[in-house]
Amino acid sequence: MTRSLRYVAFDQLHRDYGVLADARPAEDVIVMVESSAMLRGRDWHPERLFFYRSSARHFAQSLVASGFRVEFLKAASSRAGLLEVKARYPGVTLVVAEQSSFRQRARLADLADETLPNDFFLTPSEVFQSWANSHATHVMEHFYRQQRVRLGVLMEGGSPLGGAWNFDHDNRLPPPKNYQWPEPLQFALDEIDEAVAEEVAYRPSGAWSTTRAGALAQLENFLTQHFAAFGPYEDAMASTSWSMHHSLLSPYLNNGLLHPREVLDAVLERFSRGDIPIASAEGFVRQLIGWREYVHGMYWFQGPQYQEGNGLAATTPLLPLFDDATATSMNCVGSIIRDIDARAWTHHIPRLMVLSNLALLAGVDPQAFLAWMRRRFIDAAEWVMVPNVIGMGLHADGGAMMTKPYAAGGAYIHRMGSYCKDCPYNPKLRIGESACPFTTLYWDFLDRHRATFATNHRMAQQVHGLGRLADLPQVRQRAQVVLRGLAEGRI
Ligand SMILES: Cc1cc2nc3c(=O)[nH]c(=O)nc-3n(C[C@H](O)[C@H](O)[C@H](O)COP(=O)(O)OP(=O)(O)OC[C@H]3O[C@@H](n4cnc5c(N)ncnc54)[C@H](O)[C@@H]3O)c2cc1C
Ligand code: SF4
Repeated sequence: MTRSLRYVAFDQLHRDYGVLADARPAEDVIVMVESSAMLRGRDWHPERLFFYRSSARHFAQSLVASGFRVEFLKAASSRAGLLEVKARYPGVTLVVAEQSSFRQRARLADLADETLPNDFFLTPSEVFQSWANSHATHVMEHFYRQQRVRLGVLMEGGSPLGGAWNFDHDNRLPPPKNYQWPEPLQFALDEIDEAVAEEVAYRPSGAWSTTRAGALAQLENFLTQHFAAFGPYEDAMASTSWSMHHSLLSPYLNNGLLHPREVLDAVLERFSRGDIPIASAEGFVRQLIGWREYVHGMYWFQGPQYQEGNGLAATTPLLPLFDDATATSMNCVGSIIRDIDARAWTHHIPRLMVLSNLALLAGVDPQAFLAWMRRRFIDAAEWVMVPNVIGMGLHADGGAMMTKPYAAGGAYIHRMGSYCKDCPYNPKLRIGESACPFTTLYWDFLDRHRATFATNHRMAQQVHGLGRLADLPQVRQRAQVVLRGLAEGRI
């Protein structure tokens, strides 16, 4: 006798959460749908296609091994698959956990007989909504401090452990010289991986595991090899290492193979042994219980229209260099695009301060850039991509998330990265053939949006700087040359 059908979406692959938390092998049938609309609808990076497909197949296999009956369907869409399985089990209750995007929730709304809350995050939606509704502005730092207190993380009595809420002054180091970055883990393909790789006609990089065991190994590797040094170099960019000391956990956190609670517990347990500096522990915890939960909360709080924002009226079509690293001679951008081509990932600072910064300065249409990022990253999910791109990266939400845009010239990339020494451009120059495109476009961007930012006190100093530029007319001219060159793939 079947008690219920339980739908496990491809981003809810955890035995202890969602519809599986109280599922019983003898009574419940697990439903998984490999949707061709999801997998083939966009021009996904093949690494991402492979990762999602193979992780889901491995997970289904693990459920079968633990005694579940699993209906693993291939269908045109998840909706079509669920309709098919419902027809096979007439009268049996279909249980789903809340889907992770507005679109997917709407698509499945009328199919589920029972919908469980999405518990793949540390912050129940009522908690976030209550915080957001009770604050006029939605600054991440305020939310983060409340999270620390609410979850009792790195607290001593009512105060932050170590006497400060953040250790940013310790955590903004450039990449060290002559430093040996640990080699990232490399995962061998098993039989399921090989079959999926053949289907998607792609040789995976081996950087990502498709199993829970591999995800746990990645977590353990972070704790032993990277955690202690995570903080100081979290903002640095090194051309000699694609992964540096980052955890590489986002794909597993986002498809459910790891739950943020287990990552948090593991990190706090490791910290309790006494040899992890507080700056690294706080820096990582801030990402996990702060930024991740904050962008998730903001996605739902801002509503489905948020992703259409274009507060700076940016209309430049997507630059060719985003899909073709040979279409630029900017060493930072070219190297990062090659990293993404290789394994569908680059860390936070290249995403924000190089790729989004370039799109912001060049006035790239936010929706075109958002679509590109969705296609190219292994950890892309609507709830995380939309606030990070529309709010944080492109300031396309009129400042709802960030009080000022993350706009920077070549000096920032030069200070925090190791790309400039091998680049034909000079980060210090804003005019002339050798001027760094970031530096030229930075000043031109401030000039173009002078009126918008004039009333923003956090931008006052930057806008004021424009007044000191004796060569502003030449900067404007050079910016036009750069924008044309970028559009034609010549810069
Ligand atoms: C423009 C832009 C787009 C982004 N798109 C995505 C995306 O599609 N998917 C995604 O998971 N992250 C995204 N991020 C956030 C961040 O870049 C990645 O989470 C991080 O690089 C993943 O690598 P990691 O696991 O090694 O992270 P670490 O540096 O080790 O950080 C630990 C964890 O913190 C979380 N985290 C850190 N920053 C953020 C953030 N801003 N938003 C949400 N979670 C965060 C991630 O879960 C990450 O695994 C984006 C950031 C920017 C600026
Ligand atoms: S000079 Fe400019 S374009 Fe070249 S690597 Fe440095 S920041 Fe990037």
